[in-house]
Amino acid sequence: MFLTVNLAQNQSKISNYISDTLLEHIDITLAKGEKVMLYLNKRGSHSSLICEDCQYLYACPNCDVSLSVHWNPDHLRCHICNNAFNIPKQCSECHKINLKPVWVGTQQIESLMKNQYSEKSVYRFDSDSMKNISSKREALWNLDSADIIIGTKMLTTGFNFEKIWLICIILVESELSYPSYDAAEKAYTNLRQLIGRWNRKSQETTIILQTFIPKNPLVQQLTNNNFKDFFQETLKERKEFDYPPYRQMVTLEYRHKDSKKSLAYTQKLLDTLREFDPEEEYIFLRGSSTFRKNNTHHATLIVKWKNIRKLLKNIEKTIISQSALSVIFH
Ligand SMILES: [Zn+2]
Ligand SMILES: [Zn+2]
Repeated sequence: MFLTVNLAQNQSKISNYISDTLLEHIDITLAKGEKVMLYLNKRGSHSSLICEDCQYLYACPNCDVSLSVHWNPDHLRCHICNNAFNIPKQCSECHKINLKPVWVGTQQIESLMKNQYSEKSVYRFDSDSMKNISSKREALWNLDSADIIIGTKMLTTGFNFEKIWLICIILVESELSYPSYDAAEKAYTNLRQLIGRWNRKSQETTIILQTFIPKNPLVQQLTNNNFKDFFQETLKERKEFDYPPYRQMVTLEYRHKDSKKSLAYTQKLLDTLREFDPEEEYIFLRGSSTFRKNNTHHATLIVKWKNIRKLLKNIEKTIISQSALSVIFH
């Protein structure tokens, strides 16, 4: 089951960031003796500025990411190009004054859950829990015994989880502000790995996506189509192939000042790679638009299947000589 929740209209008494829908599902899941996972895309906190009237999300003019709100001195900052901007008094799109800083962090969610479910075991999983081997062992034990797990991207690697029947993405828009890199594909990759660790009956998992701005085009792109396709595809894959990692995945990313040129390059690359793939065994996903970082346009070509290194060997020279081309293994 797949639910998108509008946090602007559906907030519980305990927090703006926890919907009544989420609480109901947590109650149901815990009553069955199953586990809950609450996901935020990074450790610490996420902040952004939204317009409650027109659902505008303040984004960097040079990069395709949302700006982060900073205090003392108050400003908005892009974590990719580092440009700073004044916090506006009114919305630059609709000119109304209902601008709202959105701020949510893993520790905040942890203490909310501990208060609400004091008889249950709540565990926040992040890099602090993984400093050495004994803490890793302890982390695994804690994960195993926890009823509610709160985690970040770290959760997406290396663990198999049994009995997780509810996953909630606390704030979908935080997937649009990942500081080092983000095309939507990156968010999907993280979440694909996350859900890839799910139990074997994962088609019964309930997935809740919370957002303040469900009508924002960037968020819609994530919630309406891509997330659903992505989850459905992942669940289908898991059903067909029983257990990951069945496929390998790599992103080829090309940068150019001109978005058309960078798209043309990934098309050419795709045509070349297809020539080495007469059996049509590889899956190619070429991004139809570019992702801007500091006004450079990044075009992506994702390749999936069993032996990607073998395929890439054919274009080894290009990979080495073309400095604008990056190869990112997932
Ligand atoms: Zn507005
Ligand atoms: Zn920027």
